[in-house]
Amino acid sequence: MKIPKSHPRYESLKRRDKLVAGIEAGITSLHGLIAHGRGEAFDYLMGERTLESALRATEVAAALLLMAKRPVLSVNGNVAALASKEMVILSGLINAPLEVNLFHRTEERVKRIKELLEREGAKHVLGDKPDSRIPGIEHARALATREGIYSADVVLAPLEDGDRCEALIAMGKKVITIDLNPLSRTSRYATVSIVDDIERALRNLISVIETKREEQQQRQQQHGHGYSSNSFNLDALLRAYDYDNKANLKAAIKEIATRLIGKIGNE
Ligand code: ATP
Ligand code: MG
Repeated sequence: MKIPKSHPRYESLKRRDKLVAGIEAGITSLHGLIAHGRGEAFDYLMGERTLESALRATEVAAALLLMAKRPVLSVNGNVAALASKEMVILSGLINAPLEVNLFHRTEERVKRIKELLEREGAKHVLGDKPDSRIPGIEHARALATREGIYSADVVLAPLEDGDRCEALIAMGKKVITIDLNPLSRTSRYATVSIVDDIERALRNLISVIETKREEQQQRQQQHGHGYSSNSFNLDALLRAYDYDNKANLKAAIKEIATRLIGKIGNE
């Protein structure tokens, strides 16, 4: 069925179509539909738009990705169905590999996702030949590559499961997540949680990185080649931003609550 653009929930219905197409293409798992439903409920509550707190998290996430020595972008079946194009653009922009990691792993799905990302223009996709494991996770999601996630310093892991996020943090990595649920374990464990829909969040992230890149280049021209943006580490960067992820999640919950209370008052 073709959805008319005038439909009030056009964007949301398009997203559902993408997931159904992902299932039909053998990319997304059926469980992914349920996970999306949980996300949608939160998106409905926030009015299907980007919150101020999410923009703040995006600024910090962009800086972390730009400062990272070994950034890696993790891709699962829902991410592939909903935002493969944006993930590939981001990967090219910061020169970071993409790594396929699936909760309900089959080698066939890994292969199909890798092929999809490559069709979208990805140059470097890992995950089909894992050679290491993330400690502390029992199932197939522990599989990682030394070239990618296992050795990464910053991992962008959108729509992630809480225990994998916790295990990555326990390995000393900085984890950026995109998750519509500000209460999920993933949101609470991550270094930076962007509480927003994946497509909106990635579009914002790409545009903030492009802007920061331009600023960085201008500064380099002004200061000459001796200027290094890598002069401090990732922890110092977070301090410089005065960023507290838990406080930012509270701000997200407040924004949602304020909107809901406002809605009741206006009816
Ligand atoms: P956790 O394990 O972190 O407590 P969970 O078990 O509730 O979370 P999972 O199924 O592990 O959830 O992961 C899916 C997460 O992805 C959910 O928290 C959901 O809110 C989020 N999500 C689903 N669809 C989207 C989307 N389109 N954009 C952003 N987040 C989404
Ligand atoms: Mg979970």
